[in-house]
Amino acid sequence: MAKIRLFIDHPLAAGQPVPLDQGQAHYLSGVMRQREGAEVAVFNGRDGEWTARIDRLAKREGTLMPVAQSAPQQDPPDLWLVFAPIKKARTDFIVEKAAEMGAARIMPVQTDHTNSERIRQDRLQAHAVEAAEQCGGTFVPEVTDLQPLQRMLSDWDPSRRILWADESRVGVAETLAGLPAGPWAILIGPEGGFSGNERRQLADLAHVVPVSLGPRILRADTAAVAAMALWQAALGDWGGG
Ligand code: SAM
Repeated sequence: MAKIRLFIDHPLAAGQPVPLDQGQAHYLSGVMRQREGAEVAVFNGRDGEWTARIDRLAKREGTLMPVAQSAPQQDPPDLWLVFAPIKKARTDFIVEKAAEMGAARIMPVQTDHTNSERIRQDRLQAHAVEAAEQCGGTFVPEVTDLQPLQRMLSDWDPSRRILWADESRVGVAETLAGLPAGPWAILIGPEGGFSGNERRQLADLAHVVPVSLGPRILRADTAAVAAMALWQAALGDWGGG
């Protein structure tokens, strides 16, 4: 049976009890049918992964006791994903895949052609937590609230380069080989693509690097995964950088 992994927003140290909230207690007792004395894996995004014993378990509450660290904390490379939210299920997919692919931060932005005017940040954050639980990661990327692309660009620290997935370069043959290491963000547009104004603004910024994602126009969710894979292979922790 697959190892049970739980994200717990609480310090983890040997012998320091960790309270379970209602959802976690229900998940362990009602869904996973665990009993007191069983062991599960827990992580909090800071202290690595720990083996923890279930000391007390009721329907709505309980206590875990961390026993020993089972894996060190492993943070992803300094890569942010900036994307324009699309339909709900596809936005969920982007957040889930970004967490699995090793995004350090996930930032939804409202662009001129973005369909949705609001997002449920708490729900998207919960998707990132679930993704980290299932992929064996010890880090959970923060999902920020929706903000206008214009504001994000004017507040941007230019020492973080932006890899702009630019649909107008479809078919241009290029790779990420030769790009400098350091902090990066990937920028993915909405179904309608970037507006003329946005394109002009992005093209004027020295820290923005436009890139093609091959000879076909990809859906935004596919583009996000493809761009992250390329970046991780070239500059990230997949071993190519
Ligand atoms: N409606 C746009 C058009 O027809 O040109 C396509 C937008 S595409 C569905 C959504 C986003 O994915 C784009 O804004 C871009 O960021 C990215 N994207 C998709 N295919 C791409 C490609 N071949 N090269 C670069 N970016 C791409």
